[in-house]
Amino acid sequence: MPRHTPPMLELAEVPNDLPAECQEVIRNLWDYLDGRLSPDTTARLRAHIAACGPCFAYQQFQSRFLELLTTLRARGGVPEHVRESVLARLDEER
Ligand SMILES: [Zn+2]
Repeated sequence: MPRHTPPMLELAEVPNDLPAECQEVIRNLWDYLDGRLSPDTTARLRAHIAACGPCFAYQQFQSRFLELLTTLRARGGVPEHVRESVLARLDEER
């Protein structure tokens, strides 16, 4: 199964002033959503996301983005203009 992570997000900066738990969530979120983490780590991240507002919002945003990609792929691929507008949108939100 191919990784979902777009390279630009994989390399996104994680702010150093976040609590260690939040940094862990941000660094591992795509693997978490893909079910690639160990059961222990998955349980720890899930508990943190449930208790932490910013991490919950981040997880919601990323999982919606992931669903969108999955839907578009299921329809036979992401048209170039859609891909570009999604990437442009993400650039703006940084
Ligand atoms: Zn957090």
